[in-house]
Amino acid sequence: MPTETFEFQVEARQLLQMMIHSIYSNKDVFLRELVSNASDALDKLRLEALRDDSLHADVSDLHIEIEVDKQARTLTVRDNGIGMSHDEVVQLIGTIANSGTAKFLKELKEAENASAAEGLIGQFGVGFYSSFMVADEVTLLTRRAGESQGTRWASTGEGTYTIETVEDAPQGTAVTLRLKPEDTEDRLYDYTSPWKIKELVKRYSDFITWPIRMAAEPPAPSADADGEASAAEEQAPREPETLNSMKALWARSRDEVTDDEYHELYKHISHDWNNPLEVIRLQAEGTFEYQALLFIPAHAPQDLFMQGYQRGIQLYVKRVFIMDDCEALMPPYLRFVKGVVDAQDLSLNVSREILQQDRQIQLMHRRLAKKVLSTVKDMMSANPERYATLWAEFGRVLKEGLLSDFDNRDAILGISSFATTHSAPTEDGKEQPTTLRQYVERMKDGQEHIFYLTGESRQAIENSPHMEAFRAKGIEVLLLTDPVDEVWVDAVPEFDGKQFRSVAKGEVDLGTEEEKKEAETERGKQQEEYAGLLSWMSQQLSETVKEVRLSSRLTVSPACIVSDAHDVTPALANMYRAMGQ
Ligand code: ADP
Ligand code: MG
Repeated sequence: MPTETFEFQVEARQLLQMMIHSIYSNKDVFLRELVSNASDALDKLRLEALRDDSLHADVSDLHIEIEVDKQARTLTVRDNGIGMSHDEVVQLIGTIANSGTAKFLKELKEAENASAAEGLIGQFGVGFYSSFMVADEVTLLTRRAGESQGTRWASTGEGTYTIETVEDAPQGTAVTLRLKPEDTEDRLYDYTSPWKIKELVKRYSDFITWPIRMAAEPPAPSADADGEASAAEEQAPREPETLNSMKALWARSRDEVTDDEYHELYKHISHDWNNPLEVIRLQAEGTFEYQALLFIPAHAPQDLFMQGYQRGIQLYVKRVFIMDDCEALMPPYLRFVKGVVDAQDLSLNVSREILQQDRQIQLMHRRLAKKVLSTVKDMMSANPERYATLWAEFGRVLKEGLLSDFDNRDAILGISSFATTHSAPTEDGKEQPTTLRQYVERMKDGQEHIFYLTGESRQAIENSPHMEAFRAKGIEVLLLTDPVDEVWVDAVPEFDGKQFRSVAKGEVDLGTEEEKKEAETERGKQQEEYAGLLSWMSQQLSETVKEVRLSSRLTVSPACIVSDAHDVTPALANMYRAMGQ
């Protein structure tokens, strides 16, 4: 079979260059990525074998094997999982499907220092490509379960890769790294040392539910040129040894598991390289038993608002992985939550359709949503900074729940916060949002409503003539700038008995009863005085406005356009138009 040479897609090439030049300081994590991929491949194979009797695949001893060869300076991570077809190799390994890549690369180039770059990489997660941090050549030999021919992929990471068809490849995937010489010389980064490998597996991959075995090292040649390999601690075990405990973290008691262990599990299931913002545990006992281990990420992913965004809840049944992205377990407005739910009493053969209708699943869904919301509520008082991060990253998504989750509406309002005229942004441009509770506590005597104005930005709203009277009277106004704000303000009637009221709609009455009466008589007088002018203006403008009236809301501008209390706002009208309605 001829060897074909392909070019990496542009984005892939750029990313590889960054890997080769190691902008990421913690090179050790490449092993975690390879093991994570192998584990996914084993999950997929078991599932496929379960669903498809005709799949000719050996599932009797699913495992991951790591092999080091000091002489050849190679490290191999092998699995007997699902494998990849020829086309899958080209598609999955040669390109980067994520549409946020171009933006990511641009930001990466502009990153000021190494740690900023690391943060960005973490958000992106470079998976398989991280091998090139430690290897100057990577070879991947794979055969998809059920297929007869295998595929060998090889690259030095410099622009091109080769692919050839192989007749006698074992089922699954083996990734072999030819390690960079400088690393092999540095004991700290010597990935041909079995001890190093053991340490890394223990640290990053202990919870993986498949055995990770260290293959027995080939016997060292008797005459060792350097005479170095004889040090006792470098002697590898002759029998394959299982390096990980394989214990499911969610099934262990809370005080038995360290934060680091939780974080590594999070990285495995989320493909995020950063630690999560929050870890949430839930153990449900009784007739329907299940355990959940949920994570709130520290950053919103690029594609959170794109169609087809994958939700991050994995479903297990009695420790057996059943599916990724189990949307039946989490409402859409909590789609950023990642984690594992392990149920005791579900069939291993459940399908997505069945799950949507299952009553037990619906109960779990409700309970999990409530648990996430109550965790955020606790975070507000226990750790305001963490809450601020969460809200900045995910507030826009959470507010969607005000429209879709009637049961939890009050809970969502309770954890929401909004930019406000009460507090200016900090010097570096960060909003200091207020909660509705805080707003209500600051309300003036006689103020009955929670006032807000929607618009594109703080600046646009602050420049609106509608704001003048409120500014003059020192009445706080919430500044709502997210698209979703346009919609929920109309749907949600009140918070704590106070209605939401746009400062741009209908009559607004500010001030105490007395002041209002005074203004009323004053307006009555003016009304008579200007009656002629007003009716003339109404006639002149009859095509464009319903009515022309005197206003007490302006202090500087001569006139402004006001909508009726029940009209759609201009921004909402734009949104509907954009949606083709
Ligand atoms: P991610 O794991 O986040 O999808 P990776 O870069 O780690 O990204 O891997 C890219 C894809 O290559 C995987 O999604 C998977 O489809 C495929 N892949 C990688 N390693 C293996 C493997 N050992 N067995 C089967 N498929 C694999
Ligand atoms: Mg991966």
